[in-house]
Amino acid sequence: MIAENLAILRQKIDETCIRSGRNSDEIKLIAVSKYFGVDVIVNAKNCGLTDFGENRAQELTIKYEKLGNDITWHFIGTLQTNKVKYVVNAAELIHSVDSFELVEEINKRAEKIGKTQKILLEVKTSKEETKSGLETETEILNLVKRCFELKNLELKGLMTMAPLTDDTNIIRKSFKDLRNLKDRINNKGYNLTELSMGMTSDFEIAIEEGATMIRIGSAIFGDRDYSKDWRQV
Ligand SMILES: *Cc1c(COP(=O)(O)O)cnc(C)c1O
Repeated sequence: MIAENLAILRQKIDETCIRSGRNSDEIKLIAVSKYFGVDVIVNAKNCGLTDFGENRAQELTIKYEKLGNDITWHFIGTLQTNKVKYVVNAAELIHSVDSFELVEEINKRAEKIGKTQKILLEVKTSKEETKSGLETETEILNLVKRCFELKNLELKGLMTMAPLTDDTNIIRKSFKDLRNLKDRINNKGYNLTELSMGMTSDFEIAIEEGATMIRIGSAIFGDRDYSKDWRQV
């Protein structure tokens, strides 16, 4: 099933790229494997996927211990300071950094294991209470500045989640806002390259608006069954 899903998805990505004058090589596909077991991930890897995303530190750690560095791991979930060390150990890129406290802790943990941790700052581009991320531009700019002062951090770009709505104008605005914010940051002399935006329901709009990474779960793996323990599936 993964192979078929992936073929359909890749075709949609290609079509969207052609329509918007982009090259599909510019877009990294991150397979969001949360709630799916190790066997499913191995299947997906055999279908040619290289990058996987997880949103819980413990789940990432267990999968990392089983599958290791054969896979490029992305952390995309809410991160608690006391879990940072596990995530730094496993993740190539942390997408969901949204506070000074996290930035300092990630740098500290990365230094301890002699790593330069790549990160993205998560920005709240919607009004939804349930969404996390940085909200004010002043705070974001201060945090960008801090990231570049820290030796064991490499800030690559920004991440956002669009609001849950059928109104594509609202979704598009959220992605556009992130891209414009990146441009304003870069106008201050920085060089952020990555925009992590777009999921199963809205990746086409995200690609049209400049996404360089899309985070896709259900379009690849099918619906998640939250009632099951992923260790058993
Ligand atoms: C679960 C998740 C995704 C993937 O969602 P799908 O709708 O299954 O594609 C993407 N980004 C984040 C941050 C997620 O938590």
